Amino acid sequence: MSDPDYDIIIVGAGVAGPIIAKELSQAGAKILIIEGGPETPPTNREEYMSNFLLNTVKTLESPYPPGMGANPAKEATPRATIAQTFGNNVSPTWHADLGAGNYIYNADVSYLLQEGPQPFLSGYKRITGGTTWHWLGTSLRFLEHDFTMKSTYGADDPDYPMPDWPIVVDDLLDAYGRAEHEIGVSADVSIQTKELAQIGLKYSDGYSYPMQEIPPSVLDVQIAAALNGFQNFINFEGQQVFVTSTPAGRNSQPDGNRRTCAGNTNCIPICPIQAKWDGTVTLAGAQSTGNVTFKSQCVVTKVVSAGYGQPVTGIEYIHWENGPTKITKSEPITATAKIYVIAAHAIETPKLMLMSDMGNGQTVANSSDQMGRNLMDHPLYLSWSLMPEQIFGFRGPLATSGIESLRDGPFRSDRAAWRCEIGNEGWNFAIGDPWTTVSDFVDGKNASHTNANMDRLFGAGLIEQLNSHFTRQWRMGFLVEQTPEADSRVTINRDNGIVDGLHLPRPVINYKLSEYTRRGFASAEVFSRQVYQMLGATNFTRNAQNLTAADGTEFPNPVWFENPDRDMFEALPDALKAPELCANGQAVPDGFTYFGAGHLVGTYRMGSVARTSVVDSHSRSWDHSTLFLVGDGVFPTITTANPTLTLAALAMRTADAIKAQLATTL
Ligand SMILES: Cc1cc2nc3c(=O)[nH]c(=O)nc-3n(C[C@H](O)[C@H](O)[C@H](O)COP(=O)(O)OP(=O)(O)OC[C@H]3O[C@@H](n4cnc5c(N)ncnc54)[C@H](O)[C@@H]3O)c2cc1C
Ligand code: SF4
Repeated sequence: MSDPDYDIIIVGAGVAGPIIAKELSQAGAKILIIEGGPETPPTNREEYMSNFLLNTVKTLESPYPPGMGANPAKEATPRATIAQTFGNNVSPTWHADLGAGNYIYNADVSYLLQEGPQPFLSGYKRITGGTTWHWLGTSLRFLEHDFTMKSTYGADDPDYPMPDWPIVVDDLLDAYGRAEHEIGVSADVSIQTKELAQIGLKYSDGYSYPMQEIPPSVLDVQIAAALNGFQNFINFEGQQVFVTSTPAGRNSQPDGNRRTCAGNTNCIPICPIQAKWDGTVTLAGAQSTGNVTFKSQCVVTKVVSAGYGQPVTGIEYIHWENGPTKITKSEPITATAKIYVIAAHAIETPKLMLMSDMGNGQTVANSSDQMGRNLMDHPLYLSWSLMPEQIFGFRGPLATSGIESLRDGPFRSDRAAWRCEIGNEGWNFAIGDPWTTVSDFVDGKNASHTNANMDRLFGAGLIEQLNSHFTRQWRMGFLVEQTPEADSRVTINRDNGIVDGLHLPRPVINYKLSEYTRRGFASAEVFSRQVYQMLGATNFTRNAQNLTAADGTEFPNPVWFENPDRDMFEALPDALKAPELCANGQAVPDGFTYFGAGHLVGTYRMGSVARTSVVDSHSRSWDHSTLFLVGDGVFPTITTANPTLTLAALAMRTADAIKAQLATTL
């Protein structure tokens, strides 16, 4: 069985796939999009919303198929879930329920087959629209030095861990603008450049965002009033601190038949009114050209080529349906086109490519042996505190401002930089509030560490206590720049018989955080202590080395690592070690815990030579001229910025390259 020929076949309908489809279908190309997951339900997001509302556990997966407790061995499109990614110190009971910390390594729970040395904590979606269903919408541009790390900060150091990109920021300025207009980013260029032009944030001359910025929250304004312009922070080499509003892919005004953001702090896991952009918006735009054929529930299993230096000549996919008792699936179907674009994200793309055997032990697009290597995320350092006065979180989108002015500086020769996202959702991310604190004060527990006396309250006393806490909570999330490492990687399990519901191999993950990356955590903690001191806030951050199961047994916290730089803390003035700053009891922290940020980056990187990279600067495979691998898997470094805007801009560049390649035939 064979499909008709198309100009382009695109695998994956998240961000990169629909953007390329829209750009090229508008130019007249005939396109087939093949998406592994189910189509958006006929009632649009209402079905997903009702799943979310009816689910007793509100996680990233609650709204979406397959259900969050699904066994990955029995699903057609399993993916990493919160059960696998919840490797933090905030919910010992959850861990215990899942088997005292073994959940990460349990193939019945974790789709990703994790081999360590550290757990990879981020997940993704396998439904139409991809991971953007539960993205936050933060849409930051990379900075000038993000593209030239080696030549700027490591030119004289043969061991410097960050390579240069094959492009510089000026190559992307136009594409950034196009991507921001496609996503519908709300921001103000003059506000962005006022404090950030000096660290290399650039725009084309005369550029404007499509929508005005989302207003900063009450909380942002109060934090900014205390911190803005201050420059005597220890360890930050005289750089000033500014709180800057965050460019976001959500409507600040009605746009594209979608409503204005209503500010109800639910962007992750689902925006009930689609004020936040997601991949289905651009997919619909591509389909409206009439040039796009869309197939859902079709998982691509092989990319076909005769060898390196030869074109890709087809792909194979399996169509699946959920039957009453088990999945039914088709025989492999072959589809052919002139150009092939794989947009399946940074774990499923290398998995597919490593499954694409060409004989002689060779797999497609892997002559460099770089396929799957350099897996990165933004390991997230979360810090939470209680302010002395009310600042009124739990309002607005989940984050509206961040501290961006320390994203670049000479310290990058020695340790990872970070950006600091200021959360509007109190301690929801940190400890699962409001539920955890409510349950503490109702049941006389102390999971939040704010009820040391184990008080049991009710009536007016309970309301007063909760009002006092919830209006003073806030958190900072530090997105730490992770170094690319050859042995931090995605491979596939060929031989151990652990498969998914279509009997396909599952991704094997090796992941590790380098010393350079870990030093970024130490600097984030030093920074947050200084912030809390200036604000008079009490630090409740906990970096527990061990977790306690429901039955009282202790087990090692898999996401804890030792403090890489105790000297940094010993050297601090006593005021920064004061007990009132450290309700967590750690004057000098013995270690840190990390969260995942949902940013899967770097497993098929671009470069200027074929020997050390998978694709060229247009995301074209060095090995097969008709194959493009797109998405943030092409990033040689992760930088400090959330990745989607940059991957969308790179997709625009790829669309231009494909258009040029097809020019003679379109
Ligand atoms: C909680 C969370 C919050 C986030 N917030 C932000 C943010 O604020 N800002 C930001 O920049 N980024 C954010 N991200 C990251 C963002 O979601 C991703 O960068 C983005 O979705 C990647 O786009 P993509 O097109 O490469 O992949 P995806 O969106 O993951 O889409 C890939 C698609 O490919 C399909 N697919 C996979 N394998 C196959 C196959 N074999 N055959 C057919 N189809 C296949 C999948 O079903 C999926 O639809 C967040 C992520 C998470 C998890
Ligand atoms: S705050 Fe609410 S309306 Fe606004 S983007 Fe987030 S979920 Fe959507």
